[in-house]
Amino acid sequence: MFIETNERKKKLKELRDIVQNNCIQDKKLKSAENVRNRLLEFYYDDDDDDVAQTNIKSALNEYKTAISEINTDVSNDDKLLEFDKHVETLLDRVADKETDTSAELQLTGGYINVIDPISKKRIVDPVKNTICDHTYDRESITQILKINKKTRCPVIGCKSTEFVTLAHLRTDIVTKAYLEKNPE
Ligand SMILES: [Zn+2]
Repeated sequence: MFIETNERKKKLKELRDIVQNNCIQDKKLKSAENVRNRLLEFYYDDDDDDVAQTNIKSALNEYKTAISEINTDVSNDDKLLEFDKHVETLLDRVADKETDTSAELQLTGGYINVIDPISKKRIVDPVKNTICDHTYDRESITQILKINKKTRCPVIGCKSTEFVTLAHLRTDIVTKAYLEKNPE
């Protein structure tokens, strides 16, 4: 299924937010861990109980302050930078495809089905079943439906269990364009 550009942007934003959040949590945990280790050092180093008490108190305060002041700027975090770079490359590739329609036809040509699943011949007038997105030749599917109204999609492996109806058939403009660009 083709994801629209806006939808894709939204999904990428969501994904980036997750990565960013993950980086922030990661950083907070590391800082907290550092403070905690210092606190433990205070505790074990001092034999004198009074000094230990004072040190623990100051360490606890330090801990609280440090936790609340942890810098959550993760814009330079390696993980986030890597994610951004990755997405940038991906979007560049998508943009390349979208601006070059002939290249896209060429690319998708591999899986555009030009053979009618009913007659096993090259499709002349392609129609798409909007229920399952499979394409047939208008003539073939119309003939079959005249004979038997309770016909399921003839494409092998199709997951749709619904009967094919003329109401669900639309001209398949992508296949049509492909057939015109690539005459027999
Ligand atoms: Zn189908």
